[in-house]
Amino acid sequence: MAVLEVLTYPNPELKKVSQPVSNFDGELQNFIADLSETLYASPGCVGIAAPQTGALRRLIIIDASRNQKCTSNHGRQVLINPEITSQEGSVMGREGCLSLPDFTANVVRANSIEVAAMNEKGEKVVLKTEGFEARVILHEMDHLDGILFLDRVTSLKTDVFRRKRVPEKLPLPDDAAT
Ligand SMILES: [Zn+2]
Repeated sequence: MAVLEVLTYPNPELKKVSQPVSNFDGELQNFIADLSETLYASPGCVGIAAPQTGALRRLIIIDASRNQKCTSNHGRQVLINPEITSQEGSVMGREGCLSLPDFTANVVRANSIEVAAMNEKGEKVVLKTEGFEARVILHEMDHLDGILFLDRVTSLKTDVFRRKRVPEKLPLPDDAAT
């Protein structure tokens, strides 16, 4: 296993549309292991999308349990070829991104969602969730279509915030780590 390099804005790879996964082979399992290690190597990180590492595959890994304020969640989930099958409501929340390490932003997302996807074995899964975990999934799914949170904010002037420099040994804020 290996920690993969995470591409950062404005790398043009981050604007590309990823392709569906069709082979659930050993190579895919190795990639999932590496992507997972990359997620957990970043303190407080709650989600990562394959294209953030330059792999244009429709695959995300989330773990909202790493946010202590997120008391209701499904833990680590590998979602392959995910599709939103229903969504309700809209709510503003603060987001961060490994690919935009110097910024956070207020982004409006659906409050509750249903997602159909495949797990790492190629089995169909349906996930219903809301609030923070729904936000994490929607943020990561955006990466599969080359969308960053900067593309979602209402105003670059009032909804984007530069992170305060924090000493490296302190954990990152809970609400700013997708
Ligand atoms: Zn992101």
